[in-house]
Amino acid sequence: MGFYPVFLKLDALPCTVVGGGAVAARKVAGLLAAGAVVDVIAPQLHPTLAALRDGGQIRWRAGRFPEEDPGRPYLVIAATDDAAINRALSEHCRSQGIPINVVDEPALCTFILPAVVDRTPVQIAISSAGASPILARRIKARIETLLPARTGALARFAQGWRERVRERITDPVGRRQFWEGVLDGPVAERVLDGREGEADTLLQNALAGNPPPRGEVYLVGAGPGDPDLLTFRALRLMQLADVVLYDRLVTPPILDLVRKEAERIYVGKARSHHAVPQEEINARLINLAQQGKRVLRLKGGDPFIFGRGGEEIDQLAAHGIPFQVVPGITAASGCAAYAGIPLTHRDHAHSCVFVTGHPQQTALGVDWATLTQPMQTVVIYMGLQGLAGICDALMQHGLPAHHPAAVIQQGSTPAQRVVVSDLAHLAEAVKAAGLKAPTLVIVGEVVRLRERLGWFGLENQSENAFTAPGGNP
Ligand code: SAH
Repeated sequence: MGFYPVFLKLDALPCTVVGGGAVAARKVAGLLAAGAVVDVIAPQLHPTLAALRDGGQIRWRAGRFPEEDPGRPYLVIAATDDAAINRALSEHCRSQGIPINVVDEPALCTFILPAVVDRTPVQIAISSAGASPILARRIKARIETLLPARTGALARFAQGWRERVRERITDPVGRRQFWEGVLDGPVAERVLDGREGEADTLLQNALAGNPPPRGEVYLVGAGPGDPDLLTFRALRLMQLADVVLYDRLVTPPILDLVRKEAERIYVGKARSHHAVPQEEINARLINLAQQGKRVLRLKGGDPFIFGRGGEEIDQLAAHGIPFQVVPGITAASGCAAYAGIPLTHRDHAHSCVFVTGHPQQTALGVDWATLTQPMQTVVIYMGLQGLAGICDALMQHGLPAHHPAAVIQQGSTPAQRVVVSDLAHLAEAVKAAGLKAPTLVIVGEVVRLRERLGWFGLENQSENAFTAPGGNP
């Protein structure tokens, strides 16, 4: 037989917890959060409970059941480690018609406490009727990942507007449609993004008959390749999009997580073709959003790190298109973690710089001297093509030929490969290994730690030229 799920209003009602340990303390906390007036029956109190007693938040009745009688509270929770007391208390409460919960003893309970996903005022209670509390907790964890952290704020926002909307839209069907539009659209997105002020304005306008344009752009960082490295927010917006514009760095398993119905538009470089020019991408983003679409601009790594995200939002803002930016794990963090290279290990690096090694950019002038500072890690994006020149320049500006360096191909994906060498031999080793873009170059003493830590992370084979200086891998 299943349980009858209810949410109890405990505001100012007397509730009794029998037991004074850590478990009892957790139950007391839950009751207090619901506004109950709590009595604790126990010979001694856990420090947390003692503090509550001292603060006047609970009443302590020193002693044990049955000498201390719970009286007629609204409900009782038994959290003692004495099985006989728990059983006697259960019998007593049942005979008196007082709801009783005995922790971890479903057979002695007339009510049970669910696992709760708490987005107050939204609460989701999960129960397996005591069959498997661990399963219930697992389910809870999954739901936690689905619900934005600010779901409670959204409920409060809706509550704040409820009366005014009811006055304004008297037809119940129209009102339902209005709220659906609010909760599925830009207003809710603003609230979830912590921009309540903007949301208020949009809702105000909508009530005055000017609904906000639905179209918006989500500029989302997809991380370095492993779908497990997406943020919750990235995933949520990926599930919401009508159309996605993505480029070469977005891996197929990540693209698979975009809403199935969403139109997919590739804007990266195809083999032997040029990438779609940035101006054209900007124009498409604006155009699609103006058609009322939710446009997902999905980018590898982080949108603001060598991602031209800044240029895109510049154009969006100029055209009054609402947008959100979601950070992603940049290649430097992702590749370093998956290759076992702690970028700022404090014995070897006090700073870490990210630079572009794109030949067009380096041709414009790079301050090589700042890149050869001691105790510094240098991470070079887009450095494959100009690798030999980069290594030469670093050596010319003072780094020793044996300075450690690594190149990581397709970091965080199953195709990850790592070549470790030194500045004098890196380009040669990378060529010999046949590494392909995308690759990330890491230069610095911290590279040595990979070997010292015995790291053989994702790659099947460690291509390590470092142990045999001068030799090919
Ligand atoms: N916005 C991205 C960087 C875009 S520039 C980010 O934050 O990561 C493109 C360069 O990023 C590539 O040339 C390569 O140097 C690097 N890169 C991105 N993903 C990578 C990966 N999985 N493995 C290795 N390098 C990567």
